[in-house]
Amino acid sequence: MSRFIFITGGVVSSLGKGLLAAALGALLQSRGYRVRLRKLDPYINVDPGTMSPYQHGEVYVTEDGAETDLDLGHYERFTGVPARRSDSVTTGRIYSDVIARERHGDYLGATIQVIPHITDAIKAFITNDLDGEDFVLCEIGGTVGDIESLPFLEAIRQLGNELGRERVIYVHVTLVPHLAAAQELKTKPTQHSVKELLSVGIQPDILVCRVDRPLPEGARRKIALFCNVPERAVIPAEDVATIYAVPISYHDQGLDTEVCRHFGLAAGPVALPRWQDIVQRLTKPEGEVTIAVVGKYVGLLDAYKSLSEALVHGGIANTIRVNIEWIDSEVFADPSMLHRLENVSGILVPGGFGERGTEGKLAAARFARERRIPYFGICFGMQMAVVEAARTLANIPGAGSTEFGPCPAPVIGLMTEWMRGNTVELRRADGDLGGTMRLGAYECILKPGSRVREIYGVERISERHRHRFEVNPNYLGTLERCGLLFSGMSVDGLLPEIVEMPGHPWFIGVQFHPELKSRPFDPHHLFRRLRGLICFGACAA
Ligand code: GLN
Repeated sequence: MSRFIFITGGVVSSLGKGLLAAALGALLQSRGYRVRLRKLDPYINVDPGTMSPYQHGEVYVTEDGAETDLDLGHYERFTGVPARRSDSVTTGRIYSDVIARERHGDYLGATIQVIPHITDAIKAFITNDLDGEDFVLCEIGGTVGDIESLPFLEAIRQLGNELGRERVIYVHVTLVPHLAAAQELKTKPTQHSVKELLSVGIQPDILVCRVDRPLPEGARRKIALFCNVPERAVIPAEDVATIYAVPISYHDQGLDTEVCRHFGLAAGPVALPRWQDIVQRLTKPEGEVTIAVVGKYVGLLDAYKSLSEALVHGGIANTIRVNIEWIDSEVFADPSMLHRLENVSGILVPGGFGERGTEGKLAAARFARERRIPYFGICFGMQMAVVEAARTLANIPGAGSTEFGPCPAPVIGLMTEWMRGNTVELRRADGDLGGTMRLGAYECILKPGSRVREIYGVERISERHRHRFEVNPNYLGTLERCGLLFSGMSVDGLLPEIVEMPGHPWFIGVQFHPELKSRPFDPHHLFRRLRGLICFGACAA
C-alpha cells in the first residue's frame, strides 16, 4: 500500500518545493523504492496551458498530452518516472469536474459544498490511478495561508486521519531569513508559518528550512522547540552549486533518513554515485560552448526551464560547460545587432507563440544558414527556419504562417485533422484555446541517410508535441528542391516533423519538443551533439 508524502510551503513562494519533491523522490528510489510524484495547484485555471509563460513559466507536456506545471519536469528529470495527466491537478479542474457531475445529476439532490464534495474530489485525485508505488509525493502549490489552498490542505489533513499516520507524512518548507542589521538568522517566520498550518489541523513532521548560510545549532533547537518537531527533523537547506547537487545535499542533511524513520523503514546511509558523477562533470568541465538562445520570453528564464536543463544535460554528456546567451529576438529588428551571433557555437530558436519578435527569429535563422553556424530550431524555431527558407531560397516573398492571420503563401498552416495512432483528432480554427493543440507523444519515421537518422540511431522515434500549426505539406516539393530535407515525417507520412539542410554543417529543425524528454542520466540525442555543434559533427558525442 502506498505511503503519502505531502509537501507544503510557507513564508514565501519560490522556495524550491518542486526540487525538494523531485530530490526526495530520487533519494527514495536510491533506497530501492518505487515513487510517483504529483502536483496540486490551487489556481483556478483548468491547466496552465493558456497562461502566459511570464505568469507561470514553462508549460510542461506529459507523454499523454497533459499541459502541466513545470515542476513535473523536475520530477521526471530527477526520477525518470514519466508523469501522466493524472499527476497534475488544479482548483479549476477539480471544480469543473464536480460541477459537470452535479449537472449530470450524479449527486442526487445534494447541496454541493467545499467539504465534502470538493475535498472528496481532491482526495480521489491524490489516491486514484496508482500502480502500487511505495511512495506518492504530493506537492501543494502556493503558500500556506493563501485562500485558494485551503481545500487542498483540508483534503490532506483528512487523508492523514483516514489512512493513518503510518501511511502519511507532512513535510513543510519554510524560509529562515538572515537580517543583516541584526546579524542573525530569524526563526519567527517559520514559527508563524507552522502556526498557520496548525490552524488548519496539520502538524508538520519535518521542517525543511531554506537558509543562505549554515543554520546554527541554537536556531535549529529553537525551531524544533517552538514548532513541536524533533531537532533531527529540522532539515537545513542551503543553496547549492547546481540543482543536481540537491539530492546529495538533502541526503547529507538527513531528509530521506527522517522520512524512512517516520515510516519505520530501514534508514541507514545510501551511496549516491550517479548523482556524484553528474555533479563532478558539471563542476569540473573540460571545455565550454556558448549557445545563443533567440527567443521571446528571455526575461523569465523559467519560461525555458526544460530547454536550459536539456542544454545542461548535453554538457553533462560531453563534460563541457554550456553557456547560454539569452537574446530577445526583437533586438534583431536592427540588423546591425546580428553581430551578437558571430562568435557563438550554435544558435537555437526555441518554441514560441505569436507574431511579436518573429522577424528577429527569421533573421537569426538566415544568419545561421548563410554563415554556416549550427542552427537548432525547436517547434516555432523550426517553423521560422522553414518560412525563412521559403522566402529567401524558394523566392516566395509572401511566405508566412497563418498563426498571424491570412497570408498569401501559408507555408505554415493550421491542420484541422490528423492521426493519433488509429484515431483521427480534429481541431477547429474558432475552437477553444485550452487543450486543443497537437499535444503529447507522437511517433515519427526518420529517413535513411539523414543526419537525424544517424543521430538517433533508430528509424522510429517518439517525441512530445505542443503546437497548433504545421509545415504545409503542399510546399514540401518546392522547399526540398531548394535544399531542405524533410527527414522526419509522421507515421502516416503526412506531417513534416523534422527538417534539415544537407549542405549545411548542422541545421536541424524539429516540430516537437525534444527538451521535454532529456534527463541528466540520459541526455537527449539531439542535445548530446553539442560537441558536434562546436566542431561541426567531426567529434563523436
Ligand atoms: N506557435 C506555434 C504553433 O502553435 C509553435 C508552438 C510552439 O513553439 N510550441 O504551432
